[in-house]
Amino acid sequence: MNRIKSLLRDAAGILLPQDCPVCGKPLDRDEHFVCRKCLMGLPLTHYHEIEFNPMEQLFAGTIPIERAAAYFHYEKGSNYASLLHDLKYRNRPQLGRWLAARAATLMEPHGMWQGIDVMIPVPLHITKLAKRGYNQSQYIARGIADVTGIAVKPWLKATEAHASQTHKGQLARLENARGIYRPTRNAAPLAQAGHVLIVDDVVTTGATLLSCATALLHDYPQLKISFFTLAAARLD
Ligand SMILES: [Zn+2]
Repeated sequence: MNRIKSLLRDAAGILLPQDCPVCGKPLDRDEHFVCRKCLMGLPLTHYHEIEFNPMEQLFAGTIPIERAAAYFHYEKGSNYASLLHDLKYRNRPQLGRWLAARAATLMEPHGMWQGIDVMIPVPLHITKLAKRGYNQSQYIARGIADVTGIAVKPWLKATEAHASQTHKGQLARLENARGIYRPTRNAAPLAQAGHVLIVDDVVTTGATLLSCATALLHDYPQLKISFFTLAAARLD
């Protein structure tokens, strides 16, 4: 049913003009997903240009990471927050793919993707995946793959659905995210992999990314780990 719905939506998108999810104005014929003006105003983090950037600092003293970067700043209630909202809750996974491809192009000259063997999206628990119909992080990874050609492998699974994290404090969230991720049974090729990029939609405390990385390192301790998210809550 979800599949039919998304097919209908795609078909409607071809016929009907879409609105910019940020400002709500109809897109011009040559604009895709986000209008030119809102794209110009996108609050980029520039983390990929900063040594030991605020996102990398989140993981200081936890596990060794190679690189971490996010494309734009996320502020709850700002117009740009609707990009993430549409991506996650309004059946617009292609918006995430398109934004991620832009991020990939921006960051490529700075070596962000250099040496990465495989991308692993942060998984959704199967009940959440069934409800939503897609994993937004998988689409973000595909957007990076569109530019870089790096393989996307869903080699992590979420072993339990955890409650909404919206109203919990930072420590409670860390506790909540610990230990719910595991490598999948077909992740064995990771034994030969060098450098893995874990991909998510947004980074806030870093607990989810840390939990995913810890799960991978538990089984494949030789891995180098980097992180990419489409958005970052204000970390600095
Ligand atoms: Zn706009």
